[in-house]
Amino acid sequence: MNAYEVIVVGGGNAAFCAALAAQENGARVLVLEAASQEERGGNSRFTAGGMRVAYQGLPDLARLMPDLTEEERANTDFGTYTQDQFYDDLCRVTQYHTNPKMAETLVGRSLDTMLWMRGRGVRFAPIYGRQAFKVEGRFKFWGGLTVEAWGGGPGLVDSLYTIAARSGIEISYQTRALELVHDDYGVRGVMVRKQGHTQQFAAKAVVLASGGFEANAEWRTRYLGPGWDLAKVRGTRFNTGDGIRMALEIGAMPYGNWSGCHAVGWDRNAPEFGDLSVGDGFQKHSYPFGIMVNGRGQRFVDEGADFRNYTYAKYGRAILEQPGQFAWQIFDHKVAHLLRDEYRIRRVTKVSAQSLEELSGKLEDVHPQAFLEEVRAYNAAVATAVPFNPNIKDGRCTRGLILNKSNWANTLDAPPFEAYAVTCGITFTFGGLRIDDNGNVINTDGLPIHGLYAAGELVGGLFYFNYPGGTGLMSGSVFGKIAGSSAAYCALTK
Ligand SMILES: Cc1cc2nc3c(=O)[nH]c(=O)nc-3n(C[C@H](O)[C@H](O)[C@H](O)COP(=O)(O)OP(=O)(O)OC[C@H]3O[C@@H](n4cnc5c(N)ncnc54)[C@H](O)[C@@H]3O)c2cc1C
Repeated sequence: MNAYEVIVVGGGNAAFCAALAAQENGARVLVLEAASQEERGGNSRFTAGGMRVAYQGLPDLARLMPDLTEEERANTDFGTYTQDQFYDDLCRVTQYHTNPKMAETLVGRSLDTMLWMRGRGVRFAPIYGRQAFKVEGRFKFWGGLTVEAWGGGPGLVDSLYTIAARSGIEISYQTRALELVHDDYGVRGVMVRKQGHTQQFAAKAVVLASGGFEANAEWRTRYLGPGWDLAKVRGTRFNTGDGIRMALEIGAMPYGNWSGCHAVGWDRNAPEFGDLSVGDGFQKHSYPFGIMVNGRGQRFVDEGADFRNYTYAKYGRAILEQPGQFAWQIFDHKVAHLLRDEYRIRRVTKVSAQSLEELSGKLEDVHPQAFLEEVRAYNAAVATAVPFNPNIKDGRCTRGLILNKSNWANTLDAPPFEAYAVTCGITFTFGGLRIDDNGNVINTDGLPIHGLYAAGELVGGLFYFNYPGGTGLMSGSVFGKIAGSSAAYCALTK
């Protein structure tokens, strides 16, 4: 039997932040990754690498991104995103369900944790392409999301694996953790299936960082509800809830929003699971500048309720609830230049037309007459006297509709018209395990399970109903670092 001080289950961002923290605190660390080397990296690899961090202004960002050029500094309004703003955003979008202590830890440690990652060799850059629009020659960031990992998710994952290997952390691929080895004194190791063979690894402490249950159709239906078996999985096929199951089996407490998840508008013809060659390109996040209609030709959400960062994670569910689980996003020429890069990928379900009448005949599975009536009513309701500004919540709304649009309402009248078909793509699940301040997993009696730690998607309590964009990676980093340090301390003092 192989013996390690700390075993980390999972091979994404949370796992590697835990592994690096355990290693620098003196532990001999093994990482178990269910995927092969080619598919490694979990959902973290599918991301754009956007990370939500609290900062006071350029000086903080310059510490994180010393590579910022003079030109970038001069031509960009980075603004500030204070700890209070981050905390308020988290509370607001989760309808005040977020665990205040966890939220405080996440927000309060976000910058320090990213600086620690930077210190270990992870590089960051401004997220210009998606989170800033140019106004009068200057970029202005909006929506609290300013920084991305260099090279996006793939860049982040590659650098974490490289740094880990350089630091002597061992990685075992195609090794799926099956159950926790434990006795009355706590956790003693992990039973795994490695390339078809069952085997046991001993450890003094284990960190679970193996993601949620989004890739498990049966659990999705069981916990999220009917219809969720039909959702497409945006990311890795390996996150089937194993870490959560293994911990529950030894008495861990379920915690958080078990019926909730992060889910977005995702190309209607995307494959069943994420495709690494496309990454997050199947998402379609520019709906605040257009409208979304269902098969009845009707709008069903306020597309402009808030910046997309604060609505996109809940609108996947709204799409799933429509007849046939699909919607069409409609834009006209006036806003075509604002559409994110994901609208220009090759594998996109798109139609265009020179008139709304022509478009109505091209929207597959949509009632054409009802669609035309919906657009007519929408166009007539737009408050055109209010100026359009994509950088702020501009208050350019519709008035008098049963379902109004609150911001960025433009009439649909400038050809060519473009329409994109979307369905629901699930990102990750919100329910999971309960941890204490040290990242220690709590049992159903409210006591820590000796030697068991957790971080990342499989921790419950932070996200309910909705989610502020860029917080998943940040949460994995902050709680991964805490869990790894605590696991090393536990292992070395055992
Ligand atoms: C398309 C897409 C875009 C996204 N964009 C962003 C973004 O820009 N910013 C952001 O903050 N978040 C984003 N997210 C969410 C983000 O990916 C997650 O919140 C975050 O990566 C979770 O990290 P994690 O380490 O907990 O899980 P993961 O990165 O998913 O890692 C889980 C790991 O566990 C492994 N595993 C699973 N079961 C087992 C087992 N039994 N044994 C061993 N290993 C196992 C998996 O193979 C995987 O390596 C995005 C997600 C997707 C899918």
